[in-house]
Amino acid sequence: MDIDTISEKIVAGDRRALSRAITLIESSRKDHREQAALLMERLKGAERQAIRIGMSGTPGVGKSTFIESFGTMLTAQGLRVAVLAVDPSSARSGGSILGDKTRMEQLSRDPNAFIRPSPAQSHLGGVARRSREAVAVCEAAGFDVVLIETVGVGQSETVVAEMSDLFILLLAPAGGDELQGVKRGIMEIADIILVNKADGDLKPAATRTCTDYAGALRLLRKRPQDPAGFPKAMMVSAMQQEGLEKAWEEMTALVEWRRENGFFDARREEQARYWFEQEVRNGLLARLETPQAREAMQDYAARVAEGTITPTVAAQEMLDGLKG
Ligand code: GDP
Repeated sequence: MDIDTISEKIVAGDRRALSRAITLIESSRKDHREQAALLMERLKGAERQAIRIGMSGTPGVGKSTFIESFGTMLTAQGLRVAVLAVDPSSARSGGSILGDKTRMEQLSRDPNAFIRPSPAQSHLGGVARRSREAVAVCEAAGFDVVLIETVGVGQSETVVAEMSDLFILLLAPAGGDELQGVKRGIMEIADIILVNKADGDLKPAATRTCTDYAGALRLLRKRPQDPAGFPKAMMVSAMQQEGLEKAWEEMTALVEWRRENGFFDARREEQARYWFEQEVRNGLLARLETPQAREAMQDYAARVAEGTITPTVAAQEMLDGLKG
């Protein structure tokens, strides 16, 4: 299949073409990279808009249970849902943990859902680009909701937030009365905190946790992109399928408000700028990794150490000599 055909089929909703495109995107072969870049160019005019929901939570909080229940609820409403994962740790652990179909059995069989595990890549930069392109392809394919899941290793939450319209933090009820070790940074990017497992014996602890986080969110600086009441904390039970409709209502209300007030498009524009800059940075770093560049680096380093050239001049010459 050539790129034009793949592109047309994706827009027509062909799942095989979609899978094929994502495989192309995830490949590190040079010819595949070129084809993927061409495909992204073709698809950019598709002008379909999904709601991109980023979601983070430590292992065990119930992400896959939530996605299974939430995703199934959405497809029952006639919406098409794609689930992607950003997991920079998967390369190290030898397999991807997130977005695993076996964790979302019902949803993975749902004709209105598409689940794709995290690509195995050692660099977050590589995972980020591939995931971002996969999001764009799913959007062009007409999915209404794209869920992007992460465990929040290193910078992965920031990366996911930079490709999402909304960011959801999933928490479990805390045992004590302290806030869980949630980094301040993630509180600042969260639009909605969902305290999961608000059922059975865990309900009182969930209620306390939710109140604590609601209080903590109120202390944060007001962001212009938030209507009154946001960011907010609420309780859900992924297992009992409770609170999911309410959570979806809040998400859509927030998106609606941001669309009406210009923040939705502004954010996507900002994200496009951000990714462009990241690509330039990553591209430059990649140029330092070629065998020639490594050799030149060693050469200059030795001369700098000997004192035959100053670090400043050596760096300048090195940079001037960098080629793709
Ligand atoms: P993940 O690692 O974040 O994907 O978490 P999982 O979805 O695999 O869930 C971890 C554990 O929490 C499993 O044993 C689930 O059955 C349990 N769990 C998930 N959601 C709920 C919930 O809403 N209530 C209760 N009580 N348990 C849940």
